[in-house]
Amino acid sequence: MAELLYLEDPYLKEFEAEIEEVTDEGVILNRTAFYPRSGGLEGDRGILVVNGKEYRVLGARKVGDRVLHLLDTTEGLEPGMKVKGIIDWENRYRQMRLHTASHIISALFYDLYGAMVTGGHITAEKAKEMYNVEKITPEMIREVFSRANEIVKRDLPVKVYWMEREEALKIPGIVKLASKMPPEIRVWRIVEIPGVDIQADGGPHVSRTGEIGEIVFLKKENKGKGKKVVVFTVKP
Ligand SMILES: [Zn+2]
Repeated sequence: MAELLYLEDPYLKEFEAEIEEVTDEGVILNRTAFYPRSGGLEGDRGILVVNGKEYRVLGARKVGDRVLHLLDTTEGLEPGMKVKGIIDWENRYRQMRLHTASHIISALFYDLYGAMVTGGHITAEKAKEMYNVEKITPEMIREVFSRANEIVKRDLPVKVYWMEREEALKIPGIVKLASKMPPEIRVWRIVEIPGVDIQADGGPHVSRTGEIGEIVFLKKENKGKGKKVVVFTVKP
């Protein structure tokens, strides 16, 4: 099992590791700060430096408990080699800001209108969330986004901690999301914005809501009955 450095420190931009395995598409490392595509977020991009040579990381994805770093080439790479990993921080940090923003937006849609998120996708450019409601009105959008930006201005902490599954299930509001977590995972990673949202979540977040900056509504899309999509971004 690889050491997943991004779970403890999402602000880690560089790290040292060793190649465990070389595949046709890239390399698996013994430890990594590269976030693999999952939970609606894109995988990290960046660079691996091996013996002074730079390899471009085009993306990352999970392979069991480990992370496959997709490379432009694996020429000259072998298991046991030491590497230095460098995350494309601009890309990652925007995803972190949008990810925390998405927790605030979906918590508000749920609290105010009982709308539950049924899917989502986050890139560095924008976030999309699908809700199981019949309609989303301009008034709902105004209310949710103005309240979300108040939460940003209050600069609340975003707390990340680990909790036994049985304990986590006692938290009001976390049960609605429990179906997303595989039951065999005994210890959950909890992400809490006090008074706003609490979820079991494996993705990288900013440490305070103030880092998000202004959240901007872009558009809504109608994908059918009970499938209403809201698209938003954060200011540069
Ligand atoms: Zn999340």
